[in-house]
Amino acid sequence: MLTGKTNEERIWNYLTEAGMTACGAAGLMGNLYAESGLIPTNLQNTYEKKLGYTDAAYTAAVDSGAYTNFAKDGAGYGLAQWTYHTRKAALLAFAKAAGKSVGDMEIQVDFLLHELSASFKTVLATLKTAATIKEASDSVLVNFECPADQSAAVMEKRAGYAQTFYDKYAGKENQSMSNSALVTYTNISPNKNSPRTHAIDTITIHCIVGQWTAKQGCDYFASTARQESANYIVGKDGSIGLCVEEKDRSWCSSSASNDHRAVTIEVASNTADPYAVTAQAYAALLDLVTDICKRNGKSKLVWLGDKDKSLAYTPAAGEMLMTVHRWFANKACPGEYLYSRHAAIAAEVTKRLTVTTTPTDENKEDDDMKIYKLLADVPSSYKDAVQKVVNKGALRGTGNGELNVSEDLCRTLTILDRLGKLD
Ligand SMILES: [Zn+2]
Repeated sequence: MLTGKTNEERIWNYLTEAGMTACGAAGLMGNLYAESGLIPTNLQNTYEKKLGYTDAAYTAAVDSGAYTNFAKDGAGYGLAQWTYHTRKAALLAFAKAAGKSVGDMEIQVDFLLHELSASFKTVLATLKTAATIKEASDSVLVNFECPADQSAAVMEKRAGYAQTFYDKYAGKENQSMSNSALVTYTNISPNKNSPRTHAIDTITIHCIVGQWTAKQGCDYFASTARQESANYIVGKDGSIGLCVEEKDRSWCSSSASNDHRAVTIEVASNTADPYAVTAQAYAALLDLVTDICKRNGKSKLVWLGDKDKSLAYTPAAGEMLMTVHRWFANKACPGEYLYSRHAAIAAEVTKRLTVTTTPTDENKEDDDMKIYKLLADVPSSYKDAVQKVVNKGALRGTGNGELNVSEDLCRTLTILDRLGKLD
């Protein structure tokens, strides 16, 4: 019995239970992914047209006996894209003996292991002892899959896929990348690399330079003409858009290495310095960043405030590092408004992550009392009233120009102002 929620998780569990090291399983899976996308019914694309079959139709025709040239048609098929006639014949016989479809996932992983133990003993030995992903991946490529192109570029690409599986499954059972449930609009952009090649350990917040909704942002990045994207868009109204899934790398920060490890977030902002964002967008951003950290097993958001320090920093297992676009390109992004709040964002999110009892959505607003540090932080709807009280010397704050007024107090003052009590 295969256990796991997804094909890749089932394969991972099967291979590691068969005695492969995490590097070995990842190295084999990276190659299988390159061959078939881990789809057991996958018929080599060029043969779909040639034979006039889809993956499903080909599989059904082989199973029913309507198509009899399976072994000798020269078409790659299945997880490993078996092509050579004796190997395909053996796969079919293996499936028939078990009374299962030739495209059955469990049959194919059983057959794969059977082949490795019978005919590729050195490859299997490598996979059971491999301490690096590269040695496992290269061994499968050169000795088991043996594609025509075994160049350094192909090796690197397959080891890259392997790294993704390793990051996803090694040491953390049944934990896989997901997307935020806070998303209110989804429009997946083609501007991405799938999958990302590094585990998520970074968050990069950007300003989108436009007071847009999440939908406007997602729709904008949906065009291939843009050649850019982000994992999430936070709208001026607090809407949250999914543009590139977390498992994939967005084209956002002018740095491939940053974007392979980062979840990138574009926040609706004003179009001029300091690129301020609305209170709704800021609140939604905090919620989203907290959710991303939580789902990715992070309990601390880290802002070091320095490019060299940050790029040299290796986040601990429970840490999520913050980086900014301006470190990778001659840009103001994320704008002074958000940049100057990075320390506050890190502190607030970390605080939320360390709270053991999570308030439910219904009472969250009451429990999360908002505090505005400076007069400039007070939302414009409250600002007049607060300014009047400050001008009268009735509100002096806590020194250094800091007011630290709560939203409740702002609201109270605004009501008093409307009643004419502050004039
Ligand atoms: Zn940016």
